[in-house]
Amino acid sequence: MKVTVIGAGVVGSLIARELSRYDLELSIIEQNLDVGWAATKANSAILHAGYDDPPNSVRSKFCSKGNSMYTRLSEELDFEIKRTGSYVAAFNNEELRTLKKLLKQGRINNVPDLEIHERETLIQREPELNPDIQYGLWAPTAGITEPWEVAIAAVENAVANGARIILGEKVVGFEKRRSKITEITTQKGVYKTDLVVNAGGIFADDIAQLAGAEYVPLHPRRGEYIVLDRKPGFAVKTVIFPSPTAVSKGILVVPTVNGEILLGPTAVDLSSDMKNSTRTTKEGLNRVMRSAKFLVSSLDFSRVIKTFSGLRPESPQKDFFIGVSKRVPNFINVMAMRSPGLTAAPAVAEHVVEKIIQQKLKFKLSKKRDFNPKRSRIKRFAELPPEQWREAVRKDPAAGRLVCYCNKVTEAEIVEAIRRGARTLDGVKFRTRAMFGRCQGGFCSISIMKILKRELGIDMSRLRMKSQNSWIVSRKVRE
Ligand SMILES: Cc1cc2nc3c(=O)[nH]c(=O)nc-3n(C[C@H](O)[C@H](O)[C@H](O)COP(=O)(O)OP(=O)(O)OC[C@H]3O[C@@H](n4cnc5c(N)ncnc54)[C@H](O)[C@@H]3O)c2cc1C
Repeated sequence: MKVTVIGAGVVGSLIARELSRYDLELSIIEQNLDVGWAATKANSAILHAGYDDPPNSVRSKFCSKGNSMYTRLSEELDFEIKRTGSYVAAFNNEELRTLKKLLKQGRINNVPDLEIHERETLIQREPELNPDIQYGLWAPTAGITEPWEVAIAAVENAVANGARIILGEKVVGFEKRRSKITEITTQKGVYKTDLVVNAGGIFADDIAQLAGAEYVPLHPRRGEYIVLDRKPGFAVKTVIFPSPTAVSKGILVVPTVNGEILLGPTAVDLSSDMKNSTRTTKEGLNRVMRSAKFLVSSLDFSRVIKTFSGLRPESPQKDFFIGVSKRVPNFINVMAMRSPGLTAAPAVAEHVVEKIIQQKLKFKLSKKRDFNPKRSRIKRFAELPPEQWREAVRKDPAAGRLVCYCNKVTEAEIVEAIRRGARTLDGVKFRTRAMFGRCQGGFCSISIMKILKRELGIDMSRLRMKSQNSWIVSRKVRE
């Protein structure tokens, strides 16, 4: 049986990884040149505890379950998670009422160990918090991760278990026989299939329309962010939310897995023809700074190293839309995956494969005997004890040549990223954290380009930043 997953964000990647446990011909088609580059790379990176989703919503069904699945998943796929816990801050009695509502909702949603803490505990745990804070809803199961690394790890593991990843090809049409899809057409090829999973993110409604399947209309809700560089002696240890509004969870202060501080996001609705509009705006970034500074007044904006934005796939019902199409019976929609889609993704993946494909559609899938659930991350030499690093350098001198000084990434790690599929500067960046630090590639990108050129055996003028047309140099470069 041939199964095709459209879209290699965190949702499609984890569905593919789940499917790769079974004996079938599995393909993942992704329009970008790498995996995890849409909403998956531009979000708050929080593993939400699950108190925020209305009971009985599809979101609530998958959020806290997905959250708990991350512990095992991160061990099997060797990506980082940190169970930092989170606080929702309340500055007055009205906001306290909101915390109590969230606490009650969380308990209905089976979120464990929620508590409301008073000012003294809050300031003791997070000394940088605005001293006017009165209460905080503590959710110890909340955490942080690197969402793109989850997608990379899941696809690497799926491919190691026999899946095929097709990058740089946009799905543009479907061929059908007796209402069922038989072929998928991309700009470059035609692929036969028996079953399609639509995990196309913000474009999933367009893909469903192309297939003649049901869909909910999606429009982008843009969230803008600011990243602050690491600062010795300054630490925010937990995820800090303000009291939520009707529109969003508000502007947060979030520690990143790599030690920076992430501030954002805004929530601005855009029209449905702006699904590529990931620009940042002066007003948006000012709002982020104002709101974040209210929560943590000691934030130092001279340490801004990056701004970016991500697009939530918003739908009128504000909930995930997951299920098999009635009109196209071999087409499964996994769309409207707004927050907490990252958190919910492992539980959604399991549901799609076990409940929809096997139970509802009655596909008899047989488990592979030799399925290997493990994948190892690229070794970060600078994190090794000095003796082990020295030993690694003795074996491979490239493990001793630092290329990215901000995040201490060596040539050996960049070569390994290329061996694992990085073909662009961003491919290297998201696999190794090179260019992610203070200089944002100002110093190291040219060295990385030289390594890409050497390893791929191509001229530098053919190298790209990320997308098909993001050329870096226009013609042959003198070296
Ligand atoms: C601002 C913001 C903050 C968020 N914060 C959090 C958070 O803290 N915690 C949390 O749990 N969730 C959060 N989310 C939600 C989370 O980011 C998403 O739910 C998740 O990333 C969705 O993953 P996905 O795979 O469905 O979509 P995407 O990551 O968008 O992936 C879809 C993929 O499909 C591909 N594609 C689309 N059309 C085609 C086509 N025609 N052919 C081939 N490929 C195609 C795209 O290129 C893309 O790679 C946030 C989202 C945003 C935007």
